[in-house]
Amino acid sequence: MSATTHDTPADAPRARVTAPGEAHAPRDTHDEGAEVARIVHALRAIVDSDEARAAERTVLAHGFRAALPALQALRERVRAEGAFAPHLPREMGGAGLPLVAFARVSEVLGRVPFGHWLANCQAPDIGNMELLHTHASPALQARWLAPLARGELRSCFAMTEPEHAGANPVWLSTRAVRDGDDYVLDGHKWFTTAADGAAFTVVMAVTDPDAAPHARASMLLVPMDAPGVQLVRNIRVMGEPGDDWASHAELRFTGVRVPVTSRIGDEGAGFALAQARLGPGRVHHCMRWIGICERAFDLMCERAVTRELAPGEPLGRKEAIQHMVARSRAEIDAARLLVLDAAARLERDGAAGARDAIASIKFHVAGVLQAVLDRAIQVHGAYGLTDATPLAFWWAHERGARIYDGPDEVHLSSLGRSLLKRAASRHGVPWR
Ligand SMILES: Cc1cc2nc3c(=O)[nH]c(=O)nc-3n(C[C@H](O)[C@H](O)[C@H](O)COP(=O)(O)OP(=O)(O)OC[C@H]3O[C@@H](n4cnc5c(N)ncnc54)[C@H](O)[C@@H]3O)c2cc1C
Repeated sequence: MSATTHDTPADAPRARVTAPGEAHAPRDTHDEGAEVARIVHALRAIVDSDEARAAERTVLAHGFRAALPALQALRERVRAEGAFAPHLPREMGGAGLPLVAFARVSEVLGRVPFGHWLANCQAPDIGNMELLHTHASPALQARWLAPLARGELRSCFAMTEPEHAGANPVWLSTRAVRDGDDYVLDGHKWFTTAADGAAFTVVMAVTDPDAAPHARASMLLVPMDAPGVQLVRNIRVMGEPGDDWASHAELRFTGVRVPVTSRIGDEGAGFALAQARLGPGRVHHCMRWIGICERAFDLMCERAVTRELAPGEPLGRKEAIQHMVARSRAEIDAARLLVLDAAARLERDGAAGARDAIASIKFHVAGVLQAVLDRAIQVHGAYGLTDATPLAFWWAHERGARIYDGPDEVHLSSLGRSLLKRAASRHGVPWR
């Protein structure tokens, strides 16, 4: 068949996709208060345990894979608390938390670099679970989603290409050409998080280059051991290649053949599915960042009261340090309220109604994260640059927060445009 064979006409309306966050349990099925408080309390005890601190030291010194035995043991403790896969419905083995409740759980998990992995709600698997849960065929769900939800395998998401600006997600070169009952896939991706050791990837590929820009691509589930899939390398990020789940890979797809039944959702629906995935995904990221901020804040305060400039004179006596602590406290608390409000809007009003709120949290909380980490490192002095605390790790690996899932500038422009459009309407002036 030709490269332009497709099921969806070029001028077809954008595919309807399930509302974001639908993989989370509906609000009215869950007694949020007591159960969420219990889960948060139990998880806090696990992520702040001596065992978790020891595992953290191993991750920082030797990488993620070296810590896996210790992490598996911690994972079993999370499972025993009924907090495994907290975002998934109970019938799938999850804790059935709605998005706002999950946000609170996500914060506490953020206190250690592997917290979300312990609860099997780590990116990019959580996004893939939500995607497969809402849009994959029953056969794909049985083969891939069920073991993913049980934590038996991992996955990744391959969309960004080194040759094109990732900030423009409709510009892709990766092609999936229909050939009988198969697609044949050729392309080049990078920054595919957690590809190292993943069992499958979801690939965003152009299935109809002649369609309207937002209807050109589809999502295909591709086993990582399919012939023609090559993990070229784990990309060094700030000097560190990472490994296993904690890595970002360059991938090549050369003549990779997958059945048409590997497609997730309709042909041409890739962009719409990616957008739907991003709403709750940004809430997940932001609450994880707030968890990181809280841990950084704790470390900053501990250092401020224990490090002495002279005998009997701790750092924290200096006004400059007090200002850093105070500013951080206010910024973290404000950021949390903003994110919980955005999550509530997303649940209540859907993606369209929550668009401005989601744009706000993405750039705002990423900025707070960077500022708080920077202050925490500053208060630690040279010690803050070492692996004695997770601050340096986060400083390096979370710099990307202002880039992935839409760079700051994209969200700022989107929010600014939306606010001005409303202002123009209020003042009766034309706006385009
Ligand atoms: C840690 C990390 C993990 C990632 N994981 C994944 C993954 O698992 N799967 C995947 O597919 N991708 C992943 N990515 C890639 C990520 O999605 C892209 O980096 C992101 O979309 C930005 O694309 P880009 O890097 O090509 O930057 P570009 O699109 O080239 O943009 C470069 C810069 O230009 C500016 N800019 C861009 N657009 C605008 C605009 N409209 N207005 C003004 N300024 C603008 C911004 O400052 C931006 O940082 C990851 C990236 C990072 C850093």
